[in-house]
Amino acid sequence: WAKADGKSRWALYDPERNAREVARFTLSATMPRALERDEFYVEYQPLVRLEDSTVVGVEALVRWQHPEFGRLAPDRFIELAEETGLIVPLGRWVLRKACEEARRWLVEFGDAAPFVSVNLAVRQSRDPELVRDVKRILDECALPPHHLQLELTESAIMGTADEPLESLRALSDMGIKIAIDDFGTGYSNLAYLKHLPVHELKIAGSFMEGLRAADEEDPVDSQIVATLVQLAHALRLGVTAEGVETPAQAKRLHRIGCDTGQGWFFARPGPPDAIDSLLRGDL
Ligand code: C2E
Ligand code: MG
Ligand code: MG
Ligand code: MG
Repeated sequence: WAKADGKSRWALYDPERNAREVARFTLSATMPRALERDEFYVEYQPLVRLEDSTVVGVEALVRWQHPEFGRLAPDRFIELAEETGLIVPLGRWVLRKACEEARRWLVEFGDAAPFVSVNLAVRQSRDPELVRDVKRILDECALPPHHLQLELTESAIMGTADEPLESLRALSDMGIKIAIDDFGTGYSNLAYLKHLPVHELKIAGSFMEGLRAADEEDPVDSQIVATLVQLAHALRLGVTAEGVETPAQAKRLHRIGCDTGQGWFFARPGPPDAIDSLLRGDL
């Protein structure tokens, strides 16, 4: 199976590939116990209104403190969890954690409390129990639905049979905000977009690379971002830019008319008390 040109890195006996496969296997085998053993934790990253730098929301991002491999980013295990189905209980756990923190912020900061934004995997979005689970968690956490946003990618929003997901309407009718994550990188059905119960577009971070000071920016990237912002506003949706790393990008985005920014320029993802400090203004 080794390719004759000698460049092949995927031959059957490739030791690197083997190590990767073993790690993958170990991860998927240990994941169910990890949930019981409390090895997952959630970090929070601010969503910042560009107009006045107010923290309007926070995105919940899951991590795994693995006993053998250390701290793992979600791109190491979310896909695996989708394959094994563990994403459903894991996602439910993240949702509950995030709603508990959001409730705490609401009690402590009142009107200034941010909403919490939680990622939904494809498999979770198609789980028939989704709406009931979300409703129960909001009830148990005493969290008003407008303090919760759910982020779905374009492929999660389109259900099976090429129909938009039915549960979106129910979630939206409850008062929950729906955001399309990584907008611009997937297959967007613009005809549907107009009718979907969606409130926010999150423009993928990959478009921010070309946003720099006016004289040195990539005209294609900045045109794409400007066009996506216009599209969002034409549809009466809010728009958030992901992956904002520099002051120049934040400035350009504000000038373009983007509502909200997220990224290292504002804050890295961190523990919940880092959000508390931000909200108290003692950073
Ligand atoms: P995402 O939802 O698009 O989240 C944004 C990602 O960009 C996060 O990566 C965040 O840490 C990273 N990021 C934030 N600011 C910057 C920046 O300025 N520059 C760059 N280069 N990156 C930035 P993270 O935490 O590694 O998560 C990766 C993806 O894993 C997420 O992408 C999301 O799709 C998925 N994910 C995370 N948590 C969950 C979860 O609880 N459930 C599900 N289903 N997926 C999750
Ligand atoms: Mg990361
Ligand atoms: Mg997200
Ligand atoms: Mg994203």
